[in-house]
Amino acid sequence: MRPLIGTGLKMNLTSSEAAIYFDELSQLVAPLSSCEIFVLPSFTSIWVARDRLRGSNVYWGAQDVHPNEAGAHTGDISAAMLVDLGCSFVEVGHSERRRDHGETDEMVALKVRQVLRHEMTPIICVGEHIRGRPEAALDHVLRQARTGMSLGSEADRRRVVIAYEPIWAIGEGAIAADPAHIGAVHRGLHQLATRVIYGGSVDPITAGPILAQTGVDGLFVGRAALDPKQFAAIAAIAARTKS
Ligand code: PEP
Repeated sequence: MRPLIGTGLKMNLTSSEAAIYFDELSQLVAPLSSCEIFVLPSFTSIWVARDRLRGSNVYWGAQDVHPNEAGAHTGDISAAMLVDLGCSFVEVGHSERRRDHGETDEMVALKVRQVLRHEMTPIICVGEHIRGRPEAALDHVLRQARTGMSLGSEADRRRVVIAYEPIWAIGEGAIAADPAHIGAVHRGLHQLATRVIYGGSVDPITAGPILAQTGVDGLFVGRAALDPKQFAAIAAIAARTKS
């Protein structure tokens, strides 16, 4: 299994800026065929990703989706719209969406089912709020992931990617979780999913020791990936560590 290295660009980059970003990134990661790489821009730049990344070894996708097929949901985006733009991955349940939009695990489950129905790969984000022992963290994220995956068939569930993103390790001023903590939580999450990736303050320094843990199948990179050079450097580390 190739390491899965991705980023969600959050509410960053205009479409014009994203075009420059995609061009630089696709060139930098072109030699890294031993990694599976994806980027999730804002909705307004997905068409740019399709135009700039087609034919490269970078997949693209979305940071959210509506659980319904179509209809009266002003401002929302359906799974069919994402498929039409060539999306492969859809992130669901990021802690910022849970915080800003009140998303629950039950809502995550509906979205995951919709992504699976449309043959895309859901990335379910789970994570505990407060730093503690790995056993307590695992207990929390297993509950989140079980509910988030509860509406898919057994076969479907194997297609889900779980992103373990401890909330205390994400964002400005935070530091990545300890590799041993990450490894322990990932090995536990593997009872639910084949691929478990880690997110939270990953950079070119923290990436290697985290990837060296058994059970870590890839990385979900935030701030560091806003610089395509750093993102490519992390992917290169993954290619080396996991090959
Ligand atoms: C994230 O918010 O999903 C994330 C991984 O962010 P960062 O790497 O900036 O902590």
